[in-house]
Amino acid sequence: MYSGLSYCIVGSGFSGSVLAERIASVLNKKVLVVEKRSHIGGNSFSDIDQATGIEIHKYGSHIFHTSNTTVWDYICKFGEFSNYQHKVMALFKQRIYQMPINLKTINDFFNKNLSPNEAIDFLNKEISSCGITNPKNLEEKAISSVGLNLYNAFIKGYTRKQWGKDPASLSADIISRLPVRFNYNANYFNDPYQGIPLDGYGQLFDRLLSHRNIELRLNTSYEEMAQYIPPDCMIIYTGMIDRLFDYKFGALEWRSLNFEWETKNLSDYQGTSVVNYSDESVPFTRIHEFKHYHPERTESFHAPQTVISREYPIAWQQGAEAFYPVNDTYNNERFNKYLYKAKRKSNLIVTGRLGLYKYWDMDTAIENALKLFERLKKSEIP
Ligand code: UDP
Repeated sequence: MYSGLSYCIVGSGFSGSVLAERIASVLNKKVLVVEKRSHIGGNSFSDIDQATGIEIHKYGSHIFHTSNTTVWDYICKFGEFSNYQHKVMALFKQRIYQMPINLKTINDFFNKNLSPNEAIDFLNKEISSCGITNPKNLEEKAISSVGLNLYNAFIKGYTRKQWGKDPASLSADIISRLPVRFNYNANYFNDPYQGIPLDGYGQLFDRLLSHRNIELRLNTSYEEMAQYIPPDCMIIYTGMIDRLFDYKFGALEWRSLNFEWETKNLSDYQGTSVVNYSDESVPFTRIHEFKHYHPERTESFHAPQTVISREYPIAWQQGAEAFYPVNDTYNNERFNKYLYKAKRKSNLIVTGRLGLYKYWDMDTAIENALKLFERLKKSEIP
């Protein structure tokens, strides 16, 4: 039994690590962090590839971006960020375009030389011919933003691969993540704060969890530890909520990913960090080339080798890594049943992207962890 233990945090992604750091350093309480994987950081984890010296994002590209000054100020205390600005290319029918859709994409795709106002008029005609006034799903939302031709080229096939579903059955929120621009701004994100940790996400998480009040147990599931946790200890659970309740109401649906890794004997494979593959006939959705995240690391950046990974979306099965929640009515209703059960336990808080079944970016996970901590501090919880 861990006597004197006040908090046990399950999971060491951003939600778990930020809460552990705050509780340990501000409340001066002992925290046990239990992580079933062999590393900290959840899906944001990055590490050096020993053969090439290139920092790789083990679970696909993670670019930190936020508009929230509190989040930015907080996370910058644990590591310096580069001024990397994410720009993505999309390959469709053997031609390369800028993504998200901007004036360059529109001009290249329609083989035109439109000014911003001309492009707005041009796309408005495309959009109005589709007759969608009140978009109710991803397909309608996308068509009513860019018209049928651009939708068919850059969104339909990619989305069908990504989600394994018809875009008409998916929430419009998913596509609202992507801006549409009538200028030549090629940034993937609109947020004013953006970058990559200069010494990697792995180091950032090491610092978050370095407080003497924090004990970390890797390769350990919550189920293994539960018997050693004192009954008055608060459990903050950031794992999958259905697993916590032994899938009592059935497993929640997730989308998972397979990464196919390759080291190429080339200094530069694709000229940028991410290329999306829009054609449905190509089985993967994107290729990541990680050295482009660290041009400031001149040795690995100019090395004669490069590490790439092809991203293949797959259906989630028990035991696989969960990446994207399938937030349809059916799954959200089941999730609410789990949440109701969790809320009835006085020493349990479920949070995080996995726990709350939310399609959150890293900054939203941090924002929610900081807010939850403030409530804990004021003893609003339990
Ligand atoms: N999407 C698309 N084409 C693209 C990129 C994205 O249709 O080239 C759609 C797709 O439905 C995806 C959503 O936009 O699920 C959000 O994309 P984002 O890049 O934000 O997803 P993430 O980086 O979280 O995988």
